[in-house]
Amino acid sequence: MTRKLNLVPFVSVEHMMKLVLAIGVERVLTDLAARIEEDFRGWSRFDKTPRLASHSVDGVIELMPTSDGRLYGFKYVNGHPKNRRDGRQTVAAFGVLADVGNGYPLLLSEMTLLTALRTAATSALAARYLARPGSRCMALVGNGAQSEFQALAFKALLGVTKLRLYDIDAAATRKCAGNLAGLGFDVACCASTGEAVDGADIVTTITADKHCATILTDAMIGPGVHLNAVGGDCPGKTELQRDILLRADIFVEFAPQTRVEGEIQQLDAAHPVVELWQVMTQQAPGRREARQITLFDSVGFAIEDFSALRYVREKLADNGLYHEIDLLADPDDPRDLLGMLRRAGTPPAAFHPLAPRFPQPSP
Ligand code: NAD
Repeated sequence: MTRKLNLVPFVSVEHMMKLVLAIGVERVLTDLAARIEEDFRGWSRFDKTPRLASHSVDGVIELMPTSDGRLYGFKYVNGHPKNRRDGRQTVAAFGVLADVGNGYPLLLSEMTLLTALRTAATSALAARYLARPGSRCMALVGNGAQSEFQALAFKALLGVTKLRLYDIDAAATRKCAGNLAGLGFDVACCASTGEAVDGADIVTTITADKHCATILTDAMIGPGVHLNAVGGDCPGKTELQRDILLRADIFVEFAPQTRVEGEIQQLDAAHPVVELWQVMTQQAPGRREARQITLFDSVGFAIEDFSALRYVREKLADNGLYHEIDLLADPDDPRDLLGMLRRAGTPPAAFHPLAPRFPQPSP
Protein backbone atom coordinates (compact mmCIF):
# COMPACT_ATOMS: atom_id res chain seq x y z
CA MET A 1 0.00 0.00 0.00
CA THR A 2 1.34 3.39 -0.94
CA ARG A 3 -1.74 5.33 0.04
CA LYS A 4 -4.72 5.34 2.34
CA LEU A 5 -8.10 5.26 0.62
CA ASN A 6 -9.91 8.19 2.22
CA LEU A 7 -13.12 8.06 0.20
CA VAL A 8 -15.44 11.07 0.37
CA PRO A 9 -19.25 10.70 0.16
CA PHE A 10 -20.60 12.40 -2.98
CA VAL A 11 -24.31 13.11 -3.42
CA SER A 12 -25.14 13.26 -7.12
CA VAL A 13 -28.27 14.90 -8.53
CA GLU A 14 -29.74 11.40 -8.95
CA HIS A 15 -29.13 10.56 -5.30
CA MET A 16 -30.41 13.95 -4.10
CA MET A 17 -33.66 13.39 -6.01
CA LYS A 18 -34.04 9.92 -4.47
CA LEU A 19 -33.31 11.30 -1.00
CA VAL A 20 -35.84 14.13 -1.29
CA LEU A 21 -38.51 11.86 -2.76
CA ALA A 22 -37.92 9.21 -0.08
CA ILE A 23 -38.37 11.76 2.72
CA GLY A 24 -41.07 13.82 0.93
CA VAL A 25 -40.57 17.36 -0.41
CA GLU A 26 -42.68 19.13 2.22
CA ARG A 27 -41.05 17.16 5.02
CA VAL A 28 -37.58 18.10 3.69
CA LEU A 29 -38.66 21.76 3.58
CA THR A 30 -39.85 21.73 7.22
CA ASP A 31 -36.75 19.80 8.33
CA LEU A 32 -34.49 22.30 6.54
CA ALA A 33 -36.34 25.23 8.10
CA ALA A 34 -35.78 23.66 11.53
CA ARG A 35 -32.03 23.19 10.87
CA ILE A 36 -31.69 26.75 9.51
CA GLU A 37 -33.55 28.16 12.53
CA GLU A 38 -31.31 26.16 14.88
CA ASP A 39 -28.18 27.53 13.20
CA PHE A 40 -29.52 31.12 13.04
CA ARG A 41 -30.25 30.90 16.77
CA GLY A 42 -26.59 29.96 17.28
CA TRP A 43 -25.49 32.96 15.16
CA SER A 44 -22.52 33.96 17.34
CA ARG A 45 -20.88 30.52 16.86
CA PHE A 46 -20.45 31.09 13.12
CA ASP A 47 -17.71 32.69 11.04
CA LYS A 48 -19.62 35.16 8.87
CA THR A 49 -18.50 36.94 5.76
CA PRO A 50 -20.33 38.34 2.74
CA ARG A 51 -19.98 35.89 -0.14
CA LEU A 52 -17.14 36.32 -2.60
CA ALA A 53 -18.68 37.29 -5.94
CA SER A 54 -17.06 37.32 -9.37
CA HIS A 55 -19.25 39.44 -11.65
CA SER A 56 -19.31 39.31 -15.44
CA VAL A 57 -21.48 40.83 -18.14
CA ASP A 58 -24.06 38.03 -18.06
CA GLY A 59 -23.94 36.82 -14.49
CA VAL A 60 -22.10 36.10 -11.30
CA ILE A 61 -20.17 33.20 -9.76
CA GLU A 62 -20.10 33.13 -5.98
CA LEU A 63 -18.36 31.26 -3.16
CA MET A 64 -20.25 31.12 0.13
CA PRO A 65 -18.18 29.88 3.10
CA THR A 66 -18.94 29.58 6.82
CA SER A 67 -17.97 27.50 9.86
CA ASP A 68 -19.37 26.82 13.31
CA GLY A 69 -15.93 25.83 14.62
CA ARG A 70 -16.62 22.10 14.19
CA LEU A 71 -17.74 21.90 10.59
CA TYR A 72 -16.78 24.10 7.64
CA GLY A 73 -18.98 24.48 4.58
CA PHE A 74 -18.97 26.32 1.31
CA LYS A 75 -21.16 26.51 -1.76
CA TYR A 76 -20.21 27.34 -5.33
CA VAL A 77 -23.19 28.96 -7.07
CA ASN A 78 -23.82 30.96 -10.21
CA GLY A 79 -26.56 33.38 -11.24
CA HIS A 80 -26.99 33.76 -15.03
CA PRO A 81 -30.50 34.95 -15.98
CA LYS A 82 -29.81 34.53 -19.71
CA ASN A 83 -28.87 30.85 -19.29
CA ARG A 84 -32.53 29.88 -19.64
CA ARG A 85 -32.46 30.92 -23.31
CA ASP A 86 -29.65 28.38 -23.93
CA GLY A 87 -31.50 25.64 -22.05
CA ARG A 88 -29.37 25.97 -18.92
CA GLN A 89 -30.28 26.71 -15.28
CA THR A 90 -30.17 30.34 -14.08
CA VAL A 91 -28.82 29.03 -10.77
CA ALA A 92 -26.64 25.90 -10.44
CA ALA A 93 -24.62 24.90 -7.39
CA PHE A 94 -22.55 22.34 -5.52
CA GLY A 95 -21.04 22.38 -2.06
CA VAL A 96 -18.68 20.85 0.46
CA LEU A 97 -18.82 20.14 4.18
CA ALA A 98 -15.48 19.57 5.94
CA ASP A 99 -14.07 18.65 9.36
CA VAL A 100 -12.54 21.73 10.99
CA GLY A 101 -10.31 19.49 13.13
CA ASN A 102 -8.29 18.13 10.20
CA GLY A 103 -9.58 20.07 7.19
CA TYR A 104 -10.62 16.92 5.32
CA PRO A 105 -13.89 17.05 3.34
CA LEU A 106 -16.75 15.00 4.79
CA LEU A 107 -19.22 15.50 1.96
CA LEU A 108 -19.40 16.79 -1.61
CA SER A 109 -22.92 17.40 -2.85
CA GLU A 110 -24.98 18.71 -5.71
CA MET A 111 -26.69 21.89 -4.48
CA THR A 112 -28.89 23.08 -7.35
CA LEU A 113 -31.91 21.26 -5.95
CA LEU A 114 -30.70 21.85 -2.42
CA THR A 115 -30.48 25.61 -3.04
CA ALA A 116 -34.07 25.75 -4.28
CA LEU A 117 -35.14 23.81 -1.18
CA ARG A 118 -33.12 25.84 1.32
CA THR A 119 -34.13 29.17 -0.25
CA ALA A 120 -37.80 28.24 -0.02
CA ALA A 121 -37.38 26.92 3.53
CA THR A 122 -35.67 30.18 4.59
CA SER A 123 -38.41 32.29 2.97
CA ALA A 124 -41.20 30.39 4.70
CA LEU A 125 -39.32 30.39 8.00
CA ALA A 126 -38.95 34.19 7.81
CA ALA A 127 -42.64 34.52 6.94
CA ARG A 128 -43.59 32.53 10.04
CA TYR A 129 -42.20 35.42 12.09
CA LEU A 130 -43.26 38.22 9.76
CA ALA A 131 -46.51 37.46 7.91
CA ARG A 132 -49.91 38.14 9.46
CA PRO A 133 -51.19 35.08 11.35
CA GLY A 134 -53.76 33.32 9.21
CA SER A 135 -52.12 34.31 5.90
CA ARG A 136 -53.36 31.79 3.34
CA CYS A 137 -53.06 33.53 -0.04
CA MET A 138 -49.72 34.18 -1.76
CA ALA A 139 -48.89 35.92 -5.04
CA LEU A 140 -45.95 34.26 -6.76
CA VAL A 141 -44.39 36.56 -9.34
CA GLY A 142 -41.76 34.74 -11.41
CA ASN A 143 -42.66 31.13 -12.11
CA GLY A 144 -39.24 29.67 -12.91
CA ALA A 145 -37.15 26.90 -11.36
CA GLN A 146 -37.40 28.14 -7.76
CA SER A 147 -41.10 29.01 -7.74
CA GLU A 148 -42.83 25.71 -6.92
CA PHE A 149 -40.44 25.11 -4.02
CA GLN A 150 -41.54 28.45 -2.55
CA ALA A 151 -45.19 27.44 -2.89
CA LEU A 152 -44.57 24.09 -1.20
CA ALA A 153 -42.57 25.63 1.65
CA PHE A 154 -45.27 28.22 2.35
CA LYS A 155 -47.87 25.47 2.38
CA ALA A 156 -45.81 23.22 4.66
CA LEU A 157 -44.79 25.92 7.14
CA LEU A 158 -47.66 28.42 7.06
CA GLY A 159 -50.65 26.62 5.54
CA VAL A 160 -50.71 28.82 2.40
CA THR A 161 -53.04 27.08 -0.07
CA LYS A 162 -54.22 29.91 -2.38
CA LEU A 163 -51.72 30.89 -5.04
CA ARG A 164 -51.89 33.70 -7.58
CA LEU A 165 -49.25 33.12 -10.26
CA TYR A 166 -47.76 35.56 -12.74
CA ASP A 167 -44.75 35.43 -15.07
CA ILE A 168 -44.01 37.54 -18.16
CA ASP A 169 -43.72 34.18 -19.92
CA ALA A 170 -47.12 32.45 -19.81
CA ALA A 171 -45.42 29.09 -20.49
CA ALA A 172 -43.62 29.38 -17.13
CA THR A 173 -46.93 29.99 -15.36
CA ARG A 174 -48.50 26.97 -17.09
CA LYS A 175 -45.50 24.84 -16.05
CA CYS A 176 -45.74 26.05 -12.44
CA ALA A 177 -49.51 25.51 -12.23
CA GLY A 178 -49.10 22.05 -13.82
CA ASN A 179 -46.37 21.00 -11.36
CA LEU A 180 -48.49 22.11 -8.40
CA ALA A 181 -51.69 20.43 -9.62
CA GLY A 182 -53.03 17.85 -7.18
CA LEU A 183 -50.82 19.06 -4.33
CA GLY A 184 -53.58 20.81 -2.36
CA PHE A 185 -53.43 24.32 -3.85
CA ASP A 186 -56.14 26.53 -5.25
CA VAL A 187 -54.20 28.14 -8.14
CA ALA A 188 -55.14 31.23 -10.17
CA CYS A 189 -53.04 32.10 -13.24
CA CYS A 190 -53.04 35.90 -13.57
CA ALA A 191 -52.54 38.24 -16.52
CA SER A 192 -50.39 40.82 -14.73
CA THR A 193 -48.40 41.39 -11.55
CA GLY A 194 -51.11 43.77 -10.35
CA GLU A 195 -53.78 41.09 -10.75
CA ALA A 196 -51.64 38.50 -8.94
CA VAL A 197 -50.86 40.79 -6.01
CA ASP A 198 -54.45 41.99 -5.55
CA GLY A 199 -55.81 40.52 -2.30
CA ALA A 200 -52.70 38.44 -1.49
CA ASP A 201 -51.53 38.25 2.15
CA ILE A 202 -47.99 37.43 1.05
CA VAL A 203 -46.20 38.50 -2.13
CA THR A 204 -43.18 36.53 -3.30
CA THR A 205 -41.08 38.01 -6.10
CA ILE A 206 -38.67 35.51 -7.60
CA THR A 207 -37.87 36.77 -11.08
CA ALA A 208 -34.52 36.69 -12.86
CA ASP A 209 -33.17 39.64 -14.79
CA LYS A 210 -29.75 41.22 -14.47
CA HIS A 211 -30.89 44.77 -13.89
CA CYS A 212 -32.85 46.95 -11.46
CA ALA A 213 -36.38 45.93 -12.43
CA THR A 214 -39.62 47.26 -11.00
CA ILE A 215 -41.64 44.10 -10.49
CA LEU A 216 -43.69 45.68 -7.69
CA THR A 217 -44.68 49.34 -7.60
CA ASP A 218 -45.57 51.14 -4.40
CA ALA A 219 -49.24 51.44 -5.38
CA MET A 220 -49.61 47.64 -5.57
CA ILE A 221 -48.78 47.05 -1.90
CA GLY A 222 -51.46 47.64 0.69
CA PRO A 223 -51.18 47.59 4.49
CA GLY A 224 -50.49 44.31 6.27
CA VAL A 225 -48.79 42.55 3.35
CA HIS A 226 -45.65 40.48 3.87
CA LEU A 227 -43.17 40.73 1.01
CA ASN A 228 -40.75 37.91 0.30
CA ALA A 229 -38.34 39.46 -2.23
CA VAL A 230 -36.03 36.69 -3.43
CA GLY A 231 -34.97 37.56 -6.98
CA GLY A 232 -32.96 40.72 -6.23
CA ASP A 233 -29.73 39.18 -5.00
CA CYS A 234 -26.87 40.94 -6.76
CA PRO A 235 -25.51 44.47 -7.12
CA GLY A 236 -27.61 46.16 -9.83
CA LYS A 237 -30.34 43.46 -9.64
CA THR A 238 -33.48 44.42 -7.70
CA GLU A 239 -37.24 43.88 -7.95
CA LEU A 240 -39.02 46.45 -5.76
CA GLN A 241 -39.69 50.13 -6.29
CA ARG A 242 -37.71 52.08 -3.70
CA ASP A 243 -40.80 53.71 -2.19
CA ILE A 244 -42.00 50.30 -0.96
CA LEU A 245 -38.80 49.93 1.05
CA LEU A 246 -39.46 53.26 2.77
CA ARG A 247 -42.90 52.01 3.99
CA ALA A 248 -41.76 48.55 5.07
CA ASP A 249 -40.00 47.12 8.10
CA ILE A 250 -37.05 45.32 6.57
CA PHE A 251 -35.59 42.00 7.67
CA VAL A 252 -32.41 40.49 6.23
CA GLU A 253 -30.12 37.50 6.66
CA PHE A 254 -26.68 39.12 7.11
CA ALA A 255 -26.75 42.91 6.76
CA PRO A 256 -23.18 43.43 5.41
CA GLN A 257 -24.03 41.15 2.45
CA THR A 258 -27.61 42.34 1.90
CA ARG A 259 -26.59 46.03 1.87
CA VAL A 260 -24.57 45.26 -1.28
CA GLU A 261 -26.82 42.66 -2.94
CA GLY A 262 -30.40 43.06 -1.73
CA GLU A 263 -33.28 45.44 -2.34
CA ILE A 264 -31.72 47.69 0.31
CA GLN A 265 -28.84 48.53 -2.03
CA GLN A 266 -31.34 51.22 -3.12
CA LEU A 267 -31.29 52.79 0.38
CA ASP A 268 -28.88 54.78 2.46
CA ALA A 269 -26.34 52.51 4.20
CA ALA A 270 -27.63 53.65 7.60
CA HIS A 271 -31.28 52.70 6.90
CA PRO A 272 -32.40 50.45 9.78
CA VAL A 273 -32.79 46.73 9.09
CA VAL A 274 -33.18 43.77 11.43
CA GLU A 275 -31.32 40.49 10.97
CA LEU A 276 -33.58 37.44 11.16
CA TRP A 277 -31.55 35.75 13.90
CA GLN A 278 -32.36 38.73 16.15
CA VAL A 279 -36.07 38.04 15.71
CA MET A 280 -35.59 34.31 16.26
CA THR A 281 -33.74 34.94 19.53
CA GLN A 282 -36.26 37.59 20.67
CA GLN A 283 -33.69 40.37 20.53
CA ALA A 284 -35.89 42.26 18.05
CA PRO A 285 -39.61 42.08 17.29
CA GLY A 286 -40.92 40.49 14.09
CA ARG A 287 -44.40 41.63 13.03
CA ARG A 288 -45.87 43.98 15.63
CA GLU A 289 -49.26 44.83 14.16
CA ALA A 290 -51.69 43.86 11.42
CA ARG A 291 -51.26 46.93 9.17
CA GLN A 292 -47.46 46.82 9.14
CA ILE A 293 -45.76 46.01 5.82
CA THR A 294 -42.94 43.54 6.42
CA LEU A 295 -40.22 42.74 3.89
CA PHE A 296 -37.85 39.79 3.92
CA ASP A 297 -35.07 41.02 1.63
CA SER A 298 -33.70 37.56 0.79
CA VAL A 299 -30.32 37.18 -0.92
CA GLY A 300 -29.26 33.76 0.39
CA PHE A 301 -26.62 33.36 3.09
CA ALA A 302 -23.88 30.78 3.66
CA ILE A 303 -25.33 29.49 6.96
CA GLU A 304 -28.47 28.29 5.09
CA ASP A 305 -26.27 26.16 2.83
CA PHE A 306 -24.30 24.92 5.82
CA SER A 307 -27.55 23.87 7.54
CA ALA A 308 -28.72 22.14 4.35
CA LEU A 309 -25.44 20.23 3.91
CA ARG A 310 -25.51 19.25 7.59
CA TYR A 311 -29.05 17.89 7.09
CA VAL A 312 -28.11 15.92 3.97
CA ARG A 313 -25.10 14.39 5.74
CA GLU A 314 -27.26 13.34 8.68
CA LYS A 315 -29.79 11.67 6.36
CA LEU A 316 -27.13 9.81 4.34
CA ALA A 317 -26.11 7.82 7.38
CA ASP A 318 -29.50 6.02 7.20
CA ASN A 319 -29.87 5.29 3.51
CA GLY A 320 -26.59 4.99 1.59
CA LEU A 321 -27.75 7.36 -1.17
CA TYR A 322 -24.24 8.44 -2.15
CA HIS A 323 -21.16 7.38 -4.08
CA GLU A 324 -17.73 7.29 -2.51
CA ILE A 325 -15.19 9.24 -4.52
CA ASP A 326 -11.43 9.19 -4.52
CA LEU A 327 -10.89 12.91 -3.87
CA LEU A 328 -7.98 12.96 -1.43
CA ALA A 329 -4.37 12.13 -2.19
CA ASP A 330 -3.31 10.67 1.16
CA PRO A 331 -0.01 8.70 1.14
CA ASP A 332 0.76 6.19 3.90
CA ASP A 333 3.66 8.45 4.81
CA PRO A 334 2.08 11.95 4.82
CA ARG A 335 5.36 13.55 3.68
CA ASP A 336 5.87 11.17 0.77
CA LEU A 337 3.47 12.60 -1.83
CA LEU A 338 5.93 12.19 -4.70
CA GLY A 339 6.82 8.68 -3.55
CA MET A 340 3.14 7.76 -3.74
CA LEU A 341 3.02 9.09 -7.31
CA ARG A 342 6.17 7.25 -8.40
CA ARG A 343 5.09 3.96 -6.88
CA ALA A 344 1.71 4.19 -8.67
CA GLY A 345 3.22 2.52 -11.75
CA THR A 346 4.31 3.42 -15.24
CA PRO A 347 2.38 6.20 -17.02
CA PRO A 348 0.18 5.33 -20.03
CA ALA A 349 2.07 5.61 -23.36
CA ALA A 350 0.06 8.65 -24.44
CA PHE A 351 -2.72 10.75 -23.04
CA HIS A 352 -6.12 10.20 -24.57
CA PRO A 353 -7.31 13.09 -26.76
CA LEU A 354 -9.99 15.17 -25.05
CA ALA A 355 -13.29 13.34 -24.97
CA PRO A 356 -15.76 15.04 -27.32
CA ARG A 357 -18.17 15.98 -24.50
CA PHE A 358 -15.52 17.37 -22.18
CA PRO A 359 -16.98 20.82 -21.33
CA GLN A 360 -15.23 23.87 -22.75
CA PRO A 361 -15.72 27.50 -21.62
CA SER A 362 -18.08 29.67 -23.68
CA PRO A 363 -16.25 31.41 -26.56
P1 NAD B 1 -35.54 31.13 -13.64
O1 NAD B 1 -34.77 31.78 -14.73
O2 NAD B 1 -35.79 29.68 -13.69
O3 NAD B 1 -36.97 31.84 -13.50
C1 NAD B 1 -37.13 33.22 -13.45
C2 NAD B 1 -38.51 33.57 -14.01
O4 NAD B 1 -38.72 34.98 -13.85
C3 NAD B 1 -38.66 33.26 -15.50
O5 NAD B 1 -39.74 32.38 -15.70
C4 NAD B 1 -38.92 34.64 -16.13
O6 NAD B 1 -39.79 34.60 -17.24
C5 NAD B 1 -39.51 35.39 -14.95
N1 NAD B 1 -39.45 36.85 -15.07
C6 NAD B 1 -38.41 37.62 -15.49
N2 NAD B 1 -38.77 38.93 -15.47
C7 NAD B 1 -40.05 38.96 -15.00
C8 NAD B 1 -40.97 40.01 -14.76
N3 NAD B 1 -40.66 41.28 -15.00
N4 NAD B 1 -42.20 39.71 -14.28
C9 NAD B 1 -42.56 38.41 -14.05
N5 NAD B 1 -41.73 37.37 -14.27
C10 NAD B 1 -40.48 37.64 -14.74
O7 NAD B 1 -34.78 31.52 -12.28
P2 NAD B 1 -34.91 30.83 -10.86
O8 NAD B 1 -33.89 29.77 -10.70
O9 NAD B 1 -36.34 30.54 -10.57
O10 NAD B 1 -34.42 32.05 -9.92
C11 NAD B 1 -35.24 33.18 -9.78
C12 NAD B 1 -34.48 34.28 -9.07
O11 NAD B 1 -34.21 33.90 -7.73
C13 NAD B 1 -33.12 34.59 -9.70
O12 NAD B 1 -32.98 35.98 -9.80
C14 NAD B 1 -32.12 34.02 -8.72
O13 NAD B 1 -30.91 34.73 -8.75
C15 NAD B 1 -32.86 34.22 -7.42
N6 NAD B 1 -32.45 33.32 -6.33
C16 NAD B 1 -32.34 33.86 -5.10
C17 NAD B 1 -31.99 33.05 -4.03
C18 NAD B 1 -31.92 33.63 -2.65
O14 NAD B 1 -31.50 32.95 -1.73
N7 NAD B 1 -32.36 34.85 -2.46
C19 NAD B 1 -31.73 31.70 -4.22
C20 NAD B 1 -31.89 31.17 -5.51
C21 NAD B 1 -32.25 32.00 -6.55
